[in-house]
Amino acid sequence: MSNEKATMEKVVALCKRRGFIFQSSEIYGGIGGFWDYGPLGVELKRNIKEAWWRDMVSGHDDTQTIDGAPARYGMVGLDTTIIMHPQVWKASGHFDMFYDMFVDCRTCKARFRADHVQDSQCPRKPSKKPGEHGDCDLTDPREFNLMFKTYVGALLDPTAEAYLRPETAQGIFVNFKNVVSTSRVKVPFGIAQIGKSFRNEITPRNFTFRSREFEQMEIEFFCAPETSHDWYAYWRDRRVEWYTSLGLKSEKLQLREHGPNERAHYSCGTADIEYAFPFLPKGEFGELEGVSHRSDFDLRSHMEGKLVRDGDELVVERNEHGQPRHPGSGKDLSYFDDTTQTKYVPHVIEPSAGADRATLAFLCEAYSEDAIPDEKGVPQERVVLRLHPRLAPVKVAIFPLIKKEGQPEQAAEIYRDLKRRWNVFYDEKGSIGKRYRRQDESGTPFCVTVDHQTSVDGTVTLRERDTTEQQRIKITDLTGFLEEHL
Ligand code: ATP
Repeated sequence: MSNEKATMEKVVALCKRRGFIFQSSEIYGGIGGFWDYGPLGVELKRNIKEAWWRDMVSGHDDTQTIDGAPARYGMVGLDTTIIMHPQVWKASGHFDMFYDMFVDCRTCKARFRADHVQDSQCPRKPSKKPGEHGDCDLTDPREFNLMFKTYVGALLDPTAEAYLRPETAQGIFVNFKNVVSTSRVKVPFGIAQIGKSFRNEITPRNFTFRSREFEQMEIEFFCAPETSHDWYAYWRDRRVEWYTSLGLKSEKLQLREHGPNERAHYSCGTADIEYAFPFLPKGEFGELEGVSHRSDFDLRSHMEGKLVRDGDELVVERNEHGQPRHPGSGKDLSYFDDTTQTKYVPHVIEPSAGADRATLAFLCEAYSEDAIPDEKGVPQERVVLRLHPRLAPVKVAIFPLIKKEGQPEQAAEIYRDLKRRWNVFYDEKGSIGKRYRRQDESGTPFCVTVDHQTSVDGTVTLRERDTTEQQRIKITDLTGFLEEHL
């Protein structure tokens, strides 16, 4: 009963078979790096985003210091636009610095990320690595900005150029002043946002892991500079704990602190929360979330203009006339702390997670295979998604054992009653064993079956996904049971 059998091929096949994830525009041959979520996938991903929002934002208790936090803090949310003023990306540094190095092959015209050449495939046959065919002709590595460019308005000229956001974070920073002046938050507090981001990845790969359109769940947490290291440690641990609370096992999850050379130039601490995805060689991990101590870099950039490092300092980059190379807004984004009567630019801790990578990790973790006896007692192999009940796309499936004796009507009544609270599925087709197995593959934690006894004593069979154990339960007790277990 382990998920060691969760090879990438099997997870991808299950996603297709059960309608979790499809290739975007599949009937036209697909488009690289874009994925659609099917009926079950959209529920799973929504549940992940809702769990994150509930646990980090709407359910946060700001009346007391929660476990592990250095102090009480507030949390609010935002929903900002995908296209923003182009100057945002110039001041933030993305316009100049958000690039990957790529290598082209002049012979076959394929493009590879420079740091992925060794584990990429040349598109020609027989399959080899780029550079290994006799006539491969690779260029030197060149820069490629990952931001998608578009035009706002009717004119296709440079003044109309804009970008699809490559992260949701900047929408938060540019609204910092709005939030402080319109809500009653006081530093320390966080602003959270969930939304689409776009990166024109050179080599999208590994299913949804590296896509060109994806969703992020980001928090920008604002604190006083002298407390920032404690808050960094808090968020790192809090975020690891969130994944484990929803079922990612600790041996597959790791927190990796970046060395000073790996960090961005503005960061004084970055840790990645990583998961041992099955597409990686044994012992390797892929990033699920980055937690970064960003100092006052972001708010200062949007005040003063694009910053660069000069020794230990971050200073405004200047052009040949001594003007900021990319000016900021000129607005005062500092904060007046009325408890200490001091004014400062808050430091920022950023836990930045990907909703699609989280969805993929939860799917890989949940995938398992075992054998259970069928109606005749013969062991049958089954695929079961052991998703945490909070994340399961369908919470309960309701079946009539047979399609007569009033059983479908009774089952439909239970279905309608539970449907008011949860995502419930009704199914009367096929043998009961097949119906159970279909739900096991979908990750449905409970199945309820109406049978002959139901009309006699008002009870149904309740079957549990992971153990396959069955118990009889009164229809009137179902809601209470589910409230406790979902
Ligand atoms: P990587 O090193 O894998 O490219 P990154 O360090 O550039 O990731 P961040 O900029 O820290 O990623 O973005 C925060 C989170 O957004 C990542 O931890 C990941 O979950 C998600 N993310 C980033 N790029 C992608 C992508 N191309 N596809 C899917 N999710 C992504």
